[in-house]
Amino acid sequence: RPPLDVSVPRQAFSRAERNSVLRLSNIHKAYGSRERPVSVLADVSLTVDDGEFCAVLGPSGSGKSTLLNIVGLLDRPCAGEMVLGGTTISHDSAQTTARLRNRLLGFVFQSFQLLPRLNAWQNIAMPLMYRGVPRGERKGRALEMLERVGLSERADHLPSQLSGGQCQRVAIARALVGEPRLILADEPTGSLDSATAGEMIDLLGALNRELGMTIVMVTHDRDLAQACGRRIELLDGRVVADSAAA
Ligand code: ADP
Ligand code: MG
Repeated sequence: RPPLDVSVPRQAFSRAERNSVLRLSNIHKAYGSRERPVSVLADVSLTVDDGEFCAVLGPSGSGKSTLLNIVGLLDRPCAGEMVLGGTTISHDSAQTTARLRNRLLGFVFQSFQLLPRLNAWQNIAMPLMYRGVPRGERKGRALEMLERVGLSERADHLPSQLSGGQCQRVAIARALVGEPRLILADEPTGSLDSATAGEMIDLLGALNRELGMTIVMVTHDRDLAQACGRRIELLDGRVVADSAAA
């Protein structure tokens, strides 16, 4: 008998598990010293299914970014279990974590985080490099994504030659290009005026509806969150409301 290969995720999922992109169980996070820990997330449990568009709402300091960073494998919880795309996250090896991040996740930030010396399509092509996509295929795929976000005619523009809304479209295209299981967006409209913010939510909504893209978006804007199929509310590091809960 061959030995069990523990690197392969368990296949015997129940139906509910198979369809979930993310499962958090009793996640805790504290900062500060061992003697005086400051709790930031307390006992957060939630499941996000394929195809959901979730808003995470809550006042400043309620733990929204901390939660998103944990889900994004940019930070680790103090306690609790996380299953992402069927894989239980162990944080044992930074290399494994980085590989999972590149394979499963796309990120959108408030400050766009585009590389200033690369033009629009080159920024979008960056994740393809990390994924080992051959050089010759990258530009074509980047241009396809630019078209998806309605910015084909800006392919050769640098970030400094684009408006805030256009930069965020490029960033959304970059998040999409690697075909992630889940897009994580932390205040993606936080640097935009309200009309542009609305356009950005419309774009994310269209990607969710038309591509079935699963999105978790942090925002403190209740009006914008109305466009999301599900709203999860944090207060002092706890989930105090979840529109998906019966
Ligand atoms: P939100 O995104 O909802 O505004 P955050 O998750 O950024 O909230 O922060 C939640 C709490 O955790 C805040 O009180 C913040 O000061 C604290 N915090 C966040 N990151 C750190 C850190 N690296 N070290 C210490 N405290 C932190
Ligand atoms: Mg935040």
